[in-house]
Amino acid sequence: MKYYYLTPGPSELYFTVPQHIQTALSHDICSISHRSAKFQEIFKEAVNNLKTLLNIPDDFYVVFTGSANEIWERIIQNCVRNYVFHLINGSFSKRFYETSLELGKKALSSEVPFGKGFEDVSSLKIPDEVEMICITHNETSSGVSMPLEDIYTLRKHYPEKLIVVDAVSSLPYPDFDYRLIDSVFFSVQKGFGLPAGLGVWIFNQRCVEKALALQKEGICIGTYHKIPELIEKASKYQTPETPNVLGIYLLGKVCSDMLSKGIQTIRKETAYKATLLYQRLSEHSFLRPAVENPSHRSSTVIVAHITDGRTSEEIINLYKPHGFILGKGYGKAKDTQIRIANFPTFSKELFEKLSDIL
Ligand SMILES: *Cc1c(COP(=O)(O)O)cnc(C)c1O
Repeated sequence: MKYYYLTPGPSELYFTVPQHIQTALSHDICSISHRSAKFQEIFKEAVNNLKTLLNIPDDFYVVFTGSANEIWERIIQNCVRNYVFHLINGSFSKRFYETSLELGKKALSSEVPFGKGFEDVSSLKIPDEVEMICITHNETSSGVSMPLEDIYTLRKHYPEKLIVVDAVSSLPYPDFDYRLIDSVFFSVQKGFGLPAGLGVWIFNQRCVEKALALQKEGICIGTYHKIPELIEKASKYQTPETPNVLGIYLLGKVCSDMLSKGIQTIRKETAYKATLLYQRLSEHSFLRPAVENPSHRSSTVIVAHITDGRTSEEIINLYKPHGFILGKGYGKAKDTQIRIANFPTFSKELFEKLSDIL
């Protein structure tokens, strides 16, 4: 039986990936040198296709890491001297905040209860000494998403501070205005439907300048994956270390497939599938949308609360025979909620079937 992994990461592979892996093997992608011209081509294609797909400005840098967890660590090391502010709206944003603390920074935060978003970001009081504001666009744990307008409002209030956005489980869905953000990052095993083990870090010149300033002051900004080293190598379509060549190859191919389909079509379909599912959940007999405020509901990670006392495992087992693997809740909500990934690989027809079965 064919199972669809509607789990929010790792998730179902983008439907073209198995074929691309076959092709990669027949072209010895996993054996070539990462200093060869062939690798440089792969790197260049991945970055160019991603920039086209997401409409990333030419003067932004795109570099590769091992995971999004690594980018949390790197961005704090490279872009914060002392003070950083975190908007915490779930477990991933909380972990990002803890990473700042563990790295010895003066981390401040504002936290909303699990399942809720920030009602009014303009009322946040972010002190002058804060250098960087960390936002998690899509909380994979609770299914809360921050409206893009709220991110831009923070930019308007704090033009001098760096604004960085964890968009791990929302991209390629959000159409960010990169002129109003300094850095965005994701890992590939969620919306892009790739095997795990690759983080993608997008940032602008302000981040580079900050890293260079810290380095000059003698502050440690990391070793092989510090920004100056990453961009120096990237300018030659290379990486400091032996990278996940297969992952970078597959990213380039999947971005190309998504470009053929059309990013507007992907975004429209995502919105349609999300509306369909939330509609179904709002009239369901034992599930309801876990996020009450419709404007804070994620379109890409749909979380439902179980209302009849059964566990998430029991609910997940109901739908497994139909070929749908749904995700458990996250953390404390592990047993009381289910999570459904609405990523680009899932067709409208599949979600219509899922909605019927639910
Ligand atoms: C999954 C996830 C991460 C961590 O990604 P890794 O690739 O496992 O490091 C970070 N932030 C969010 C919002 C996520 O969903």
